[in-house]
Amino acid sequence: MNMPAITVTLLLITAGSLICSMILWRLLTAQNNKAQAAYATHRKEHQEILAKTKAERRELKLLLNAFDDALVITNAAGIIQVANEAARKLCEGRRLRGKSISSTFLNHEICQHLTNAIGNNQASKQKIILTNSSFGEQNSKQRNTIEDSAWVIDYAPLPVSDINATNGISKEPPLHRIILRNVTSEHRTDQVKREFVANASHELRTPLAIISGYLENLIDDDVLDSPATSRKILTTMRKHSERLAHLIDEMLIISKLESGDAAQLNNDPFVLNDTITTIIDRLSPVIQKQHATLTTSYIPDNISLTGDSFYWEQALFNIIENALKQNAGSPLHIDISATVCEENKQLTIDITDNGKGIPSTHLPYIFNRFYRVQKHHSQNEVKGTGLGLSIVKHAIEAHGGKITATSTPGIKTTFSITCPVES
Ligand code: ADP
Repeated sequence: MNMPAITVTLLLITAGSLICSMILWRLLTAQNNKAQAAYATHRKEHQEILAKTKAERRELKLLLNAFDDALVITNAAGIIQVANEAARKLCEGRRLRGKSISSTFLNHEICQHLTNAIGNNQASKQKIILTNSSFGEQNSKQRNTIEDSAWVIDYAPLPVSDINATNGISKEPPLHRIILRNVTSEHRTDQVKREFVANASHELRTPLAIISGYLENLIDDDVLDSPATSRKILTTMRKHSERLAHLIDEMLIISKLESGDAAQLNNDPFVLNDTITTIIDRLSPVIQKQHATLTTSYIPDNISLTGDSFYWEQALFNIIENALKQNAGSPLHIDISATVCEENKQLTIDITDNGKGIPSTHLPYIFNRFYRVQKHHSQNEVKGTGLGLSIVKHAIEAHGGKITATSTPGIKTTFSITCPVES
């Protein structure tokens, strides 16, 4: 082969290899681009699934935490798989997932109920009362302050998911759902109502029994022949019939105020100072008998209000009378101060006594109907129906006001009223 022919052949071979390399490179690049595109699509799908799962988990968490009731889901061994915020709060914020029922709910009674429910594997609802105890760990201070509480334990085995089931038999171990509902306030209301029925029937029956006993004496014995004895009997009968009337009056006032019909109230101007003076006059025999001292202060000197003076008198009378009757045996000072804020036309009345006070555990309930700190009937019992402060609260609220109570037993107990001057 001559030189030019060799050169042409070499050139052809080089060109051929170049074309082949280019085709190969183009093919490889296309393949690579395809793989990259597939990877990007896959990555996007994966990220979308991840974001969706995260969103679903967030929604589920929100949903679980939206329940006020504590909810836990356990496996058959009683190990917690899921717990909502309310359940964590119940156990002083501890992490519950992976913990056993017994290490979570330190209260023996609760543990017993939950373990039995899981063992029985049958839906059940049970109400239990815990006396002076809590669910989780507690320090000694809490142990002393925790009150009785009522709970409904709502248990159900969870329906086994059939997604992973073969021949109807699930591969997943069964789960158990427990809801712990705090029903303390309903329980307390029921208790208060039961106590009222006992109290009211006792209060109504005692004067009635006395009156009918004396009536029998008047009819059967020759008492009528003795005017002095008759007068004594009739005076006692009158005293007890007055007590009956007082109890029935309080019940009627409360039912009228509870009917929520503000139109039933008068809306006339009156002077608060005069109302308080009338109350002090009405109570002066008791004030003198107890050697109690009483001070008043008014800013401005004369406070004019618009409202129903009957209910204002009733409300303030009840608060001042309570201070006296709750502290019959001790030296007592009562201070009444009334101030009107000129800027917002708000009246503030503080009635403070230095008597035995109200323990903090009772304070939240004293305005409830029929609630009394001293519940049982005894010889030394302070007379009352438990309706007084409920009347006060309803009367003040009917005038657009608010009442609160604070107490440091033995030092200072204050009932504080705030109310617009014109209701
Ligand atoms: P009651 O008819 O028993 O007086 P109230 O509704 O007026 O009913 O008061 C509820 C409870 O609040 C009372 O039983 C009493 O134990 C308590 N209480 C109210 N005021 C005082 C006070 N100033 N000092 C101590 N305890 C008080």
